[in-house]
Amino acid sequence: MVARPARLTPPVECIRLYDADAGLDGVIAIHSTALGPGAGGCRFWSYPSRDEALADALRLAEGMSYKNALAALPFGGAKAVLRRPAGAFDRAKLFRAFGRVVEGLGGLYVTAEDVGTSVDDMQEVAGATRHVAGLPSAEGRAGGDPSPWTAKGVFESMRVAARTVLDSDLAGLTVAVQGTGNVGADLCRRLADAGARLVIADPNPLRRDRLAAILGARVVGVDEIASVQAEIFAPCALGGALTPEVVRGLKAKLVCGAANNQLAAPAVADLLMNRGIAYAPDYVVNAGGIISVSAEYLGEDESDVAYRVAEIAPRVAALLDRATREGRSPALVADEMAEEVIVGAQRVAA
Ligand code: NAD
Repeated sequence: MVARPARLTPPVECIRLYDADAGLDGVIAIHSTALGPGAGGCRFWSYPSRDEALADALRLAEGMSYKNALAALPFGGAKAVLRRPAGAFDRAKLFRAFGRVVEGLGGLYVTAEDVGTSVDDMQEVAGATRHVAGLPSAEGRAGGDPSPWTAKGVFESMRVAARTVLDSDLAGLTVAVQGTGNVGADLCRRLADAGARLVIADPNPLRRDRLAAILGARVVGVDEIASVQAEIFAPCALGGALTPEVVRGLKAKLVCGAANNQLAAPAVADLLMNRGIAYAPDYVVNAGGIISVSAEYLGEDESDVAYRVAEIAPRVAALLDRATREGRSPALVADEMAEEVIVGAQRVAA
């Protein structure tokens, strides 16, 4: 297995978030500001410890630097991670307290929704700062829930990758979708419209079973989804879905999904390649959400978002082609391309 070179630069800054009265406990990690303010969503999750929350924030912020660079956005990478309080709490108060910290950073960090946060939460944040996106928008303007844009980018990437890798349209193919949340459910609807067969898993029975009933999807357990008979595996839950063990059990020939940080370790990219499984790198295919968020923050129109989201799939096709030609994993090729952009901006700034 080829050792992957270390990724670029340690985080520029970590801001500890703590307000006992508001139930706020977490961290903002700003990984890079070479291309512009650090932009990345706010995750709200039950982390068992502060160390785990910090580790997640650092990993996610790094991922945002690479994602924003490759999507050609004028933003660096950052992420906020908030620990969900164990007992009862005032949600609006908590997110207003978070907003005050974001405001105090004076635009160094721009926040938005991520796993566990909603448009309502971002509206509370917006009561304290203007450095927030993912808010309801006027007709024709960029804004609102970024999930549909993320799902669109993943879907179009999957369509292009299926042609490149499987020499097939999506119609008639089986796609195993892990996680039927905001993005996963939207992706499932697009896949069903395109004539794909669906197998889905989610620990939340309400969302999962309703979707299965509407789309005629087969439901399997969360432990089975990665190893079911399918041409495509779409991780759309949390990170780290692709462990060495999962890769050994994969029957799919293509992995393409919305989840951030799908590779449990960088070396898993080589395991996929050695098994002949094509991997459409997560941060390349799931850039639709941050494209929408950044356009909203910059005061652009929905048509600007549509234009940039349409660029994702051709980028994925070019990346898969280049990886095949060079006999390297698409993850490594994507990282190199993103690093070229970030290092180039650092040189200009120096
Ligand atoms: P979400 O919280 O709406 O959905 C996640 C779903 O995954 C939930 O329904 C949850 O029950 C399910 N889940 C959790 N553990 C699971 C498991 N082991 N097996 C199967 N399902 C499981 O989140 P989302 O907004 O749909 O985001 C999904 C993923 O995509 C996340 O990794 C997120 O970081 C990434 N992402 C989202 C966006 C966006 O615009 N929302 C943008 C880029 C990346």
